[in-house]
Amino acid sequence: MNLPKFFAVAAILITLAAFGSLSYVYSQEKTQRIACIHNQEVMREAMIHYQTQHAGNPPGRIWALWPYYNEAPEDFGTCPYDHDLLYVIDRETGMAVCPNPDHRIP
Ligand SMILES: [Zn+2]
Repeated sequence: MNLPKFFAVAAILITLAAFGSLSYVYSQEKTQRIACIHNQEVMREAMIHYQTQHAGNPPGRIWALWPYYNEAPEDFGTCPYDHDLLYVIDRETGMAVCPNPDHRIP
């Protein structure tokens, strides 16, 4: 293989690798977004149980929902995309939501 062919093949392989890794990153983000939305839906159910036992009031802290889980996940109260991102209680709806706007329940 002469040098120009080698560089052409190398450029094609690098481009394919770049698209492959971009696709992987995109699918990872999408998977974590879906996991986050699932977390919020489970927290909604826990919140409803909490509110039925507390005169309709939401808890002051998200951790008050912990006893309302049968098996609380290891990353309870945090977004699976960024474990430093803590869920917050939306005072308008009284529900636990992820601060990441891309992870809001549609
Ligand atoms: Zn999230």
